[in-house]
Formats: sequence, structure tokens, C-alpha cells
Amino acid sequence: MTARIRLQPEAIGMGMTSQRVRDRLIERLQSTGISDDRVLNAIRAVPRHLFVDEALATRAYEDTALPIGHGQTISQPWVVAKMTETLLETPRPAGAPPMRVLEIGTGSGYQAAILAALGLEVFTVERIGELLRTARKRFRSLGFNIRSKHDDGRIGWPELGPFDAIIVTAAAPALVDALTAQLAPNGTLVCPVGGSGGQTLIRLRKDEAGTVDEAQLAPVVFVPLLPGMVD
Ligand code: SAH
Repeated sequence: MTARIRLQPEAIGMGMTSQRVRDRLIERLQSTGISDDRVLNAIRAVPRHLFVDEALATRAYEDTALPIGHGQTISQPWVVAKMTETLLETPRPAGAPPMRVLEIGTGSGYQAAILAALGLEVFTVERIGELLRTARKRFRSLGFNIRSKHDDGRIGWPELGPFDAIIVTAAAPALVDALTAQLAPNGTLVCPVGGSGGQTLIRLRKDEAGTVDEAQLAPVVFVPLLPGMVD
């Protein structure tokens, strides 16, 4: 898989957003257990500094979550990498079309962009209209073809399911049944589960017969999955 991304001059970056600074983030991810070269290359290619406010651009290649407004955050790169690696472990028959991936919690759009850069077909749902509008502008200007909707993602996107992979980027008190139901046989779902004190990243796999198997991957910290929609 190759990164499908058209780099504009501002996406190439200078100083604290230069390729050298980005390469340091890649080294850090490698030293903290991320080994899938496809994921590392996508993180190297996608300009994270264009997914945060200009005032925070100099911190964009630190391995840390950053505020994106409305009390929300762009996830820590390590968490993005770990979740993406987990989805890429989904078994695919030779010659199968790109995986169809549903993301709940578009936020800045960064995680969706990483998935799209990997050549996956991405669908993303966000409950805060203003965040979604900003993310859509980024997708357009960087040339990503990502389908999105403004909705409460706890219902998933039933008309377009099932999905080969589902990634929930906000913390749920428990796995969401409607989302598990929209996961295709042989699919993988990743979701942080737990309360405000901290959560566990859960991987759910569905086999050919639809039987599910759950594993705990890592402790993580996410903003909560909230009900309803706001403009
Ligand atoms: N994947 C994002 C992370 C954003 S933080 C990124 O790469 O930047 C989590 C996001 O989930 C927030 O934008 C929040 O508004 C959104 N969210 C929370 N509950 C939601 C719900 N029920 N449906 C859709 N989005 C939700």
C-alpha cells in the first residue's frame, strides 16, 4: 500500500514541522513498539501540523494529544499508530478490495487521514458540526477522499455497513452493540472502554461465523463518547 497524498508546500513544513522533526517522531514510535512500516510511513507522510491550530503547529510532532477546541483532542500519535496497526492485522483474502473502515469521532480528521493514506476506504462520523466542517476542509485541501457525516456515531452508519474495520476514537463505558453489529465477518473493531479516569483499548474480532473474541491491548486516555449532536 502506498500513501495517496498530494503534498502542498505548506504540508512539507519547516523548522518544528520539518521532515527531520517528523522523523524523530517516527523513531520514537519505533522505540515504543510500533513496527508496521505501512503505519510508520503514513505517519511520516501525513502533515499532523495541519490538523491542529497554527499556534500549536510547533508541537504537532510531539508524541502527545493536543487540544482541537470544543474540549476535544487530536489523539496521541502512538495511540493512532497502535489502533491503525491493529486494524491492518485484519485478515484479507488475496486480491480483496481495500478495507472499508468506519471511524466514530472524526475530531481533527487526522486518524481518518492516516487510514486514507494507507489506501483504505474511510467513512467517519462526528457529533460536533464545527469540528466536522474543519476536518472536511482539511480532507479537501490535502486531496483525501473520505466520506463523512454529522451524527451521533453510537448508531454507526447502518445504511453503508457492514464494515471490515471499525475504530472508535472516543471512550465508551462499554462496547457499543450497534457498532459490533455493523462489523463484517473476519472484521476488527478497536475501541477505548472505560470511564473518565482512564480506559483500556479493546480489540474485538469477529470470525467467519460471526463469533466475537475480545482482547485488551493497552491503557489509554480518551475524551468520552457523548450522546446526541451539536452544531
Ligand atoms: N480521531 C480524532 C480524535 C478526536 S477526539 C482525531 O484524529 O483527531 C474524539 C472525537 O469524538 C471528538 O471530536 C468528539 O466530538 C467525538 N465524539 C464524541 N462522541 C461522539 C459520538 N457519539 N458520535 C460521533 N463523534 C463523537
